Amino acid sequence: DQDGAEAREIAKVIPYFPFKGIPRFYDIAGFLSKPEVFQKIVDVFVERYRGIGIDAVAGMDARGFVLGPPIALALKKPFIMIRKKGKMPNCIESDSYECEYGKRSGMCLQRDAVKKGDRILIIDDLVATGGTLSAGIQCVKMLEGIVVECACVVELKMFIDPPEGSGLPNRTKMFEE
Ligand code: IMP
Repeated sequence: DQDGAEAREIAKVIPYFPFKGIPRFYDIAGFLSKPEVFQKIVDVFVERYRGIGIDAVAGMDARGFVLGPPIALALKKPFIMIRKKGKMPNCIESDSYECEYGKRSGMCLQRDAVKKGDRILIIDDLVATGGTLSAGIQCVKMLEGIVVECACVVELKMFIDPPEGSGLPNRTKMFEE
């Protein structure tokens, strides 16, 4: 329930950020400032992914870098960074992509971070249109890794099958593709 009491503990809602066209920004500073809530979130992910054969945890730039490492450490697996294009050497690069905030120039992943057949869990703070995660999935696939799942703390439900003509991207369709 995105407006329930528990949700409000996890993410503060800031209107019209980062620009006027975004009515609600979900700010994970909400749970980062509450160690017991942060720990509970990490525990939920660790419980789900322990014992299902993950080789590495990948975090999306930038808030996936906050949430991913404690999960990777608890699972005793390597943590790898999927960064904005141009931020790391020796990388493969995804195509540019559309996200909630408009067009982005692509994500990158270091060539030696994933080996053929590696089973990768991708972590981010929030999924809206799914564009950012799709770019992360593309990076892992380019190195012949297998994305076991993508996991986020907040899901913006308005992007799941939005009404025709609303102008919103359709996340269900995007992930099918
Ligand atoms: P998407 O690509 O449209 O799914 O947008 C998700 C990406 O944008 C993630 O990397 C998020 O960190 C960021 N993002 C989009 N909306 C929000 C928000 O309301 N709060 C925090 N991050 C957001």
